[in-house]
Amino acid sequence: MAWENFIDDLKIQIDIVDVIGREVNLKKSGSNYMGLCPFHSEKTPSFSVNEEKQFYHCFGCGESGDVIKFVQNYYKLSFMESVEKLAADYGIRMPERHSGGPRIDYNKYYEINAKAARFFYNSLGRGGGAKGLAYLKSRGLTKETITKFGLGYAPDSGYELTKHLIDEGVSEDDIIKLGLANRGRNGLYDRFRDRVMFPIINTHDKVIGFGGRAIGDIKPKYLNSAESEIFLKKNNLFGLNFGKRAIADENRAIIVEGYMDVISLYQAGIHNVTASLGTALTDNQARLLCRYSKNIVLSYDSDQAGINAALRGISVVSGAGGKPRVMTVTDGKDPDEFVKKHGKEAFLRLADNAVPATDFRLKLAAEGMDLTDDRQILEYVEKVVPVLRSLGPVEQDIYVRRLSSQLGVSENAIMMAVRTEEQGSRTPQSARMSRREIRGSRSGHQSRQQQDAGSISGRIEMSMLVLAMNNIRYIRRFTEDGIRFRSALANKILSVMDSFGDELSAGVHRIEIDDIAAALEPDEERIFRGIAESIQIGPDDEAFYRELKDGYMINQYREELAEVRNELAVAEKIGHEDEVIKLLGRQMELDKLINNLTEVNNAG
Ligand SMILES: [Zn+2]
Repeated sequence: MAWENFIDDLKIQIDIVDVIGREVNLKKSGSNYMGLCPFHSEKTPSFSVNEEKQFYHCFGCGESGDVIKFVQNYYKLSFMESVEKLAADYGIRMPERHSGGPRIDYNKYYEINAKAARFFYNSLGRGGGAKGLAYLKSRGLTKETITKFGLGYAPDSGYELTKHLIDEGVSEDDIIKLGLANRGRNGLYDRFRDRVMFPIINTHDKVIGFGGRAIGDIKPKYLNSAESEIFLKKNNLFGLNFGKRAIADENRAIIVEGYMDVISLYQAGIHNVTASLGTALTDNQARLLCRYSKNIVLSYDSDQAGINAALRGISVVSGAGGKPRVMTVTDGKDPDEFVKKHGKEAFLRLADNAVPATDFRLKLAAEGMDLTDDRQILEYVEKVVPVLRSLGPVEQDIYVRRLSSQLGVSENAIMMAVRTEEQGSRTPQSARMSRREIRGSRSGHQSRQQQDAGSISGRIEMSMLVLAMNNIRYIRRFTEDGIRFRSALANKILSVMDSFGDELSAGVHRIEIDDIAAALEPDEERIFRGIAESIQIGPDDEAFYRELKDGYMINQYREELAEVRNELAVAEKIGHEDEVIKLLGRQMELDKLINNLTEVNNAG
């Protein structure tokens, strides 16, 4: 990959809000994020970060720039060092830098593509291009739409575009580099022949490539420009240049499969649409789209390929921080046909009825199952456990409750299935693994930490119980150290142990797992045994306990920290200065407490 391309690529993959948000406490305010400027001293926020434009600006001191500029200024690094830092922080591999090589003249390439686009457009309706125009009209496109999208026709002779470009002074090398022609035995021949042409335009309104649809029997039916210095499919979306405003304004994007779908919907008055470039949705495409709106409706065919595309889309969009929903176009038609037949309002109703990703996945799992049959219910629960596990704690709670009433299975039982699965996937060394996880990552995102907190605290509690099983004296330590279990099962086991404590003969400090198990329900027993067997305490009880206790405290502090941050945001908003100062103080204390504990653990 060319170096300049890499910088573009880097900037697509990295979100400026995330980079700055690691150093500056940012709050969403309208379409911007605001915070206290890190470049001058101030009490009220005048530092704004624009996610869509990937740009920051301080109204107080005038500092502004893109993500690389921020890193340069904030960390006092050179341009190169900043790029290296960003690449390292986000795990992006840097290309070898070809020093001294000629700089790529992007504008020249854009200009050549623009010439080609004009050539295709002018060929529509002329000579063989009559077929092209007839085709587009047969698909219901108006003259205005054809002009708006710059649609055109590639003649079937196989040399006309090349000849035209060379007449215009374009070199053969450049024509080949842009994937517009290939070199054959008798010179260059056009890549696109007898096709309706769709210019692919980036969000800076530059023609970066073309898609061509065969009119006759030529294979393949759809053909895109070869990838080039200025055309990387994974970084661009079709029609986003036209749709981005509407996507931001309506705060919703609809992703469809085909270029024709985009154009047809646009013509029908639905402008917040885009399509990926003949590939499954990529991470970079999703990130790019999320800058305009996080609400992304996936509209794919209802066949197996479409379902797979939707499932992939869900994970890619979620990974980019978006909120995916899936819409189903009824009648088994694609959006193009549907909107022509039923109109704009009917299509928008379908989009409004798009289901959240989780509902889509649960519905898919239920397909062909009889959920009144006990055996199939069991099978269904097993199928949806991975879906439930992928959710944050609040969402998980909501869906567990919903499934419980839908299936007539207790919430507890579903929750246990979720937890058991989690434990089952652990290796025998899981005690070590969980210690590493307990330490957590300080650089991680807040929401991520909160998400992890549920299962981490669950594991800590269970590990503590296993420790107490081996040495009953730890039960008293829990009380002394103010440790309180949250999980219902952990509390139940604790009270079972407690009741045994008095009956143990002098000098015996151990409770057998069978004795505890006897007091549990069968599925509770299964979970507890599974966990107990996966935990290895090691020779030093006390060291193991201290580590668990630290993990417990880190969790407590992190949760309090999240609360403090929420309160802080409110206090700042209403201008309650005393409260802000108090909360900032507590925030610093908590940060310090967490740092101390994580550092102790890392050193040990
Ligand atoms: Zn400033």
